[in-house]
Amino acid sequence: MIELDAQSRALLDEVRELGRHYMRPMGLASDASGLPPPADHPFYLICSRRGGLVSQVVEGEAGEAALTWKPLRALLIAEESAYWDRGVALSLPGPGLGGAALRSTATPEQRQRFLAVFADSARAHWGAMALTEPGAGSDVARIRTRARKEGDSWILAGSKMFCSNGARADWVVVWATVDPALGRDGHRAFVVERGTPGFELLKIEHKMGSRGYETASFALYDVRLPAENLLGGETFYHARRGFKGALATLSLTRPIHAAQGVGMGRAAYDHALDFVRSEYPKHGRRRQRALERLAEIQRGLATARSICMQAVWLASRGEPNVLEASYAKLFAPPAVLRAVSTALDILGEAGVRNDRMLEKLYRDVKILDIGEGTQQVQRLVIARRLFGLPRDA
Ligand SMILES: Cc1cc2nc3c(=O)[nH]c(=O)nc-3n(C[C@H](O)[C@H](O)[C@H](O)COP(=O)(O)OP(=O)(O)OC[C@H]3O[C@@H](n4cnc5c(N)ncnc54)[C@H](O)[C@@H]3O)c2cc1C
Repeated sequence: MIELDAQSRALLDEVRELGRHYMRPMGLASDASGLPPPADHPFYLICSRRGGLVSQVVEGEAGEAALTWKPLRALLIAEESAYWDRGVALSLPGPGLGGAALRSTATPEQRQRFLAVFADSARAHWGAMALTEPGAGSDVARIRTRARKEGDSWILAGSKMFCSNGARADWVVVWATVDPALGRDGHRAFVVERGTPGFELLKIEHKMGSRGYETASFALYDVRLPAENLLGGETFYHARRGFKGALATLSLTRPIHAAQGVGMGRAAYDHALDFVRSEYPKHGRRRQRALERLAEIQRGLATARSICMQAVWLASRGEPNVLEASYAKLFAPPAVLRAVSTALDILGEAGVRNDRMLEKLYRDVKILDIGEGTQQVQRLVIARRLFGLPRDA
C-alpha cells in the first residue's frame, strides 16, 4: 500500500484541475491544428507562477540545488497529466528530459547553474535533451555530432533530431562524441544555451499524435562552448561514465514514460465506460459483454502500473533498475494500445466515425511506443541484462 504525503496529494489535485480546464482542451486543439500550443500560452505562465508546480515536480523540484527528485510522485503525476493529455503534459515548463540528464551527469554546481532559471515565475522556461541523430536512434553509440577541445572551449558540430521541447528550451543537453571510433567511451554531454551562435533550429516535426508538444531538429555549426558546459567535467567520463550517464537517464525516464501510457489507458477506459452507461440498457447482454471487456482493460492497466512502480521504487532507493525500467517500457505501451483498441471496439462505429477522443488516443499511444527505446530495443536490453551479453542498447 502506497502512502502519499500531503504535498503529493495536493499536487495531484492540482494536476486534475489544470488537466480538466486546460490540458484536455489544449490537447484537442493541438491535435486539430497539428501545432503545439505557443510557448507564450497563458497556461504555461499559470504553471510557472504556481511555485513548485507540475513541471518542476514531474521532472524533479528543479529550484533546489540538490535536485531531490521524488520518483514515485513523478510517476503518479506523469500518469495523471497524461490522462488529460500526454502531448500537453510533455510540453509543461521545466527541465524535461534535460533534467534527467543533469540528475545523472552534472556536478552540483552545474545543476544549480542550469536549474536556476526555473525559479523565475515571470515567464515559462524549458530544458531539453538531444541524443537522437539522423543516423543514431536506437543505437546511441552511433552518434556523430563531434566535440573537440580548443583551448578552454569545446566546439560542437553535427545535427540532432526529435528533440522534445527543443525549440522553446532555454538550454538543451546535447550528447556528442570526441571520437566515433571510441563508441560509447567517446560520449560527452554538453549544455547548449539558446542563442549560442551556430545552434540553429532546422524544423519542427509534424507528428501523427501527441501533437501538444514540439519535436525539433537542430544543426550545430561549430558551436563554441565554455569548458564549464561539459556536464560532470572531464573526470566524469573516465571508465565509460559518459554512456552510463545516458543509460542512467533512460532508466529514470523509461518508467515515467510508460506510466504516461497508463494515464492514457485510463482516459480510454473512462470514455468507454461513460459510453456504455449512457448507450446500453442497464441489464442487457450487450452491456454485460462490454463491461467484461472494460474489466479486461483494467487488468492490463493495473499490471502495467505495478511494473512501472517497481521500476521507480528501485530508483527512489538508489538501486539499479535498468531491467525493470525496460520491463515497464516494453510492457506498458502495447498493453495501453490494446486497451485503447478495446475501448474503440466497445464504441463500435461511434468510436471510428465521430469520437475524436479515442481515435486521438490511439495515435497518441502509438507514438509513445517509439520514444525512449522501441519494443525491440527493450527486448535487447532485457536479454543482455538477463544473460550477461556484452553491451547495453
Ligand atoms: C515524439 C518523439 C519524441 C522524441 N523526443 C526525443 C528527445 O527529446 N530527445 C532525443 O534524444 N530523442 C527523442 N526521440 C527519439 C527517439 O528516442 C528515437 O526515435 C528512438 O530511439 C528510435 O530511434 P529511431 O527513430 O532512429 O529508430 P531506429 O533506431 O532507426 O529503429 C527503427 C526500427 O528498427 C528497430 N531496431 C533498431 N535497432 C534494432 C536492433 N538492434 N534489433 C532489432 N530491432 C532494432 C527499432 O525497434 C525500430 O522498429 C523522440 C522520438 C519521438 C517519436
